[in-house]
Amino acid sequence: MECIGVIGAGQMGAGIAQIAAHAGIKVLLSDVGLEVAEKGKAGIVKMLDRAVERGKLEADQRDAAVPLIVPVADLSPMRDAALIIEAATERENVKRAIFEDVAKVLAPGAVLASNTSSIAITRLAQAAPDPARFIGMHFFNPVPLMPLLELIRGLATADETVKLAEEFGAKAGKTTIVAADAPGFVVNRILVPLINEAIFAAGERLASIPDIDAGLKLGAGHPMGPLTLADMIGLDTLLEILKVFQADFGDPKYRPAPLLAKMVEAGWLGRKSGKGFYDYSVDPPAPITF
Ligand code: NAD
Repeated sequence: MECIGVIGAGQMGAGIAQIAAHAGIKVLLSDVGLEVAEKGKAGIVKMLDRAVERGKLEADQRDAAVPLIVPVADLSPMRDAALIIEAATERENVKRAIFEDVAKVLAPGAVLASNTSSIAITRLAQAAPDPARFIGMHFFNPVPLMPLLELIRGLATADETVKLAEEFGAKAGKTTIVAADAPGFVVNRILVPLINEAIFAAGERLASIPDIDAGLKLGAGHPMGPLTLADMIGLDTLLEILKVFQADFGDPKYRPAPLLAKMVEAGWLGRKSGKGFYDYSVDPPAPITF
């Protein structure tokens, strides 16, 4: 595999582009415009520079990876890609519109994957150019650090499609698990309700934000508290996932915590906006008051 396309140059798209480039694969990186795609690349370069400064990456590894990431203004150069990974905003209509454009460029034999956190792959496949060549490739945040790649097979996904996704995962140093096609698959089906419950707890002032995080870290052995993790995932993304769960399962247990919806309305989206359950403009980040 010599070239892939990544659509969406946000947190996840940038991370996927980074690991692909490290594996020696050329990445065509797109977003809503060239400027946004270039901003995504600039963020990756900054992360790599920091890793070199800290001695975690060799300068020549960075220098080899950076030119392999090519920001593009539209999808037309992705005709050369063996795999196109969509990592745009978690809204079904956004993804469906992107797939219409992908249909114009997807090479015969190439695969389209979605990094959706929650939308059913079989349903999403209906908007894909070829459901047999469509698969869920669910990476975890931050992509360069998290070892898991969850593959989701839609009803029509072909064996060769799964093989190609596994091949990319192995090249990029990820361990793959295969999950059935249901909203949230396996990991988020369990993790997102846990985070939502932590936000209910914060909203009900059962404990302070740092105490909720410390409670789960020290009492349940989690490496990171659920509110810190919420800030890392992005509160808007979490809200969208819960809305999908609520609509698709029709079960009120998935209703988003009111505090989550309010924070998204306020534009407090977590790390990416500088403020979520913690304020990241200060070092160390301070819990917010509300
Ligand atoms: P993000 O907000 O950081 O990035 C989304 C990017 O998509 C933005 O740069 C936006 O400009 C771009 N975008 C929007 N519409 C587009 C379009 N029509 N064409 C091209 N680009 C477009 O969000 P993110 O956290 O990177 O999430 C992206 C996807 O990855 C979502 O489907 C999300 O559910 C999934 N995901 C997120 C996480 C996480 O922890 N954040 C983990 C796994 C999967």
